[in-house]
Amino acid sequence: MDIRYWNSEIETIDKKDLKNYQLENLKETIYWALKTPFYKERLASVEITSPDDIKTLSDLKKIPYTTKDDLRRVYPYNHLAVPKEDVVRLHASSGTTGAITVIYHTQRDIDRWTELAARAVTMVGCTNKDVFQNMMSYGLFTGGLGLHYGAEKAGLTVIPISAGNTKRQFKFMKDFQTTFVHATPSYLLHISSIMQEEGYKLSDFNLKKALGGAEPHSEDMRKKIESLFNIDVYNNYGLSEMNGPCVATECLYKDDMHVWEDSFYLEIINPDTLEEAPEGEEGELVFTTLRRQATPLLRYRTRDLSSINPAPCKCGRTHRRIARIKGRSDDMLIINGVNVFPAQIEEIIMKMPEVGTNYLIVVDKAGALDKITVKTEVGPNTFSDDARDLNALRERIKQNIKDAVLISPAVELHEQGKLPVQEGKAKRVIDNRKT
Ligand code: ADP
Ligand code: ZN
Repeated sequence: MDIRYWNSEIETIDKKDLKNYQLENLKETIYWALKTPFYKERLASVEITSPDDIKTLSDLKKIPYTTKDDLRRVYPYNHLAVPKEDVVRLHASSGTTGAITVIYHTQRDIDRWTELAARAVTMVGCTNKDVFQNMMSYGLFTGGLGLHYGAEKAGLTVIPISAGNTKRQFKFMKDFQTTFVHATPSYLLHISSIMQEEGYKLSDFNLKKALGGAEPHSEDMRKKIESLFNIDVYNNYGLSEMNGPCVATECLYKDDMHVWEDSFYLEIINPDTLEEAPEGEEGELVFTTLRRQATPLLRYRTRDLSSINPAPCKCGRTHRRIARIKGRSDDMLIINGVNVFPAQIEEIIMKMPEVGTNYLIVVDKAGALDKITVKTEVGPNTFSDDARDLNALRERIKQNIKDAVLISPAVELHEQGKLPVQEGKAKRVIDNRKT
């Protein structure tokens, strides 16, 4: 029998009940926040000294935003709300681009995150019949463990294989007839190109669907992965500050991602003015944890750009949806005065069937001017020795980019598999102007 995990009471909660639920949980969050040296001081500056100072949800707007820099400053313990002995796990950012930041979890926090992940895998149609190969790396990075417990709770058979070792991934996919995987979209594209080299055919596998997340990717990239594996790919968004994966996930309709609004209070702001953006307009996502003990975060600025889709969804879930993440506000490249997001370039090249599965954008300074080079891989069938064909393709890529984003890049074509690949999040931009 198919057993589905389904928390219908909360997933289809009506708007008014949701607001009450959020208010109650916001008050509890303030209770925990006041136990941390960091928020005790910050909340005092806006005259909040007790949960009772929060009367309505809009009282939240008095509280200043929390930023990644704040999290660096409070390291290691100034944002911890519970005694150390109540912490059962921590996740920390790698610290490759700055000081380390850390998020603590109590057992209740982990249980609640697990609940969200269980809802997510169920939302994309998984049941206890599914065999789940979790290709996200296990460790400090939240992608591995985050989905792991949720999938177990939802009754799936979990293979905690972690990222990398592509040959072994294929062997497990075949031997255990994996139906569902979780990976970064760039890794899925990467392994699709190796599958044939390793002598596998799609019919060796039983793959039905994937959860793709942890990095920005375009609709066209999703479609490319779907057609290469003949599967459905669902977008899953999260960040370690809000637990990790499963903050927002697409349902079977693949039309924007439901944010679990019982657990995260969602705001969208204009990143320049810091004013709330009108519903439906694009801006920066700001989240407040509503059900977390050890590390409550109030109005955390994610830097991620998206917009709210308030329309009811055909699946019946009442939690509002957000659009595919366009990028981070700090990702935006300014090329000779023109603003461009790497995702815009990706969208253009992924639409071109002749272009392969990996790309890299390199920005340099050439005298006073910025010079941008787009390097892409070309599928084995396209990469012929005929220089005229390749020249024509280079020109077409250049023209398509120019038409769409008004910059004129140099284009380099590389043979499939020749551009660098990361096992985790893809690195899509090298900006040499910064070094
Ligand atoms: P780090 O901040 O070190 O990259 P995280 O795992 O916390 O580590 O990364 C979270 C970030 O990854 C998000 O803020 C967002 O920029 C990006 N991200 C996660 N999931 C998605 C997704 N589905 N689409 C686009 N970007 C995503
Ligand atoms: Zn839905």
